[in-house]
Amino acid sequence: MKTNPFRLPELGYQFSDLAPMMSEKTMAYHYGKHFQTYIDNLNKMLNGSHFEGLSIEDVVRKAPEGPIANNAGQVLNHQLFFEQFLPTKNAKLPSGELLFLIEQSFGSLEKMCEQMNEIGKSFFGSGWVWLTMNTEGQMQVMALPNGDNPLRYALKPILTIDLWEHAYYLDYQNRKVDYMVNVWRIINWNIISKRIN
Ligand code: MN
Repeated sequence: MKTNPFRLPELGYQFSDLAPMMSEKTMAYHYGKHFQTYIDNLNKMLNGSHFEGLSIEDVVRKAPEGPIANNAGQVLNHQLFFEQFLPTKNAKLPSGELLFLIEQSFGSLEKMCEQMNEIGKSFFGSGWVWLTMNTEGQMQVMALPNGDNPLRYALKPILTIDLWEHAYYLDYQNRKVDYMVNVWRIINWNIISKRIN
């Protein structure tokens, strides 16, 4: 029997590097426990299923609504989320083609961030707020519930903020907006710019 060897991705930073935007404790729970559980659940469900051996992106695109789609979505969403950070002291702003596409779609980087914050703030329940891109390079922001992912709508996921309470409760309690504002300060735009290609 083949196994689906999805596992926690390596991070380009230490758990303590993102503090105070994200504490070491939040990283230990969110990355170490929640993310790991989605991976373990997905690996178990994929054994012997039609989706065995597919990439995580293909499982997310193809699985019908249900437990496999939910867990695969959460695995890919967390992978995209955790790989897009870096310590605040290393943070830079986007440039080049990425900045061009953002300005073309939203007017400015600031407006794009404001729109994502606004959508995240008013989103009710568990989900994710996304910056997405279509095949014409048009960018759009949206929130999707639970473990849903833009790939299921033929949109490229470019940047995401986890809106599940487990993402921010230890550090921010009910202050979801403070959490989102701080996430912008640890975005690794170099990683984001690789996702537009
Ligand atoms: Mn999460």
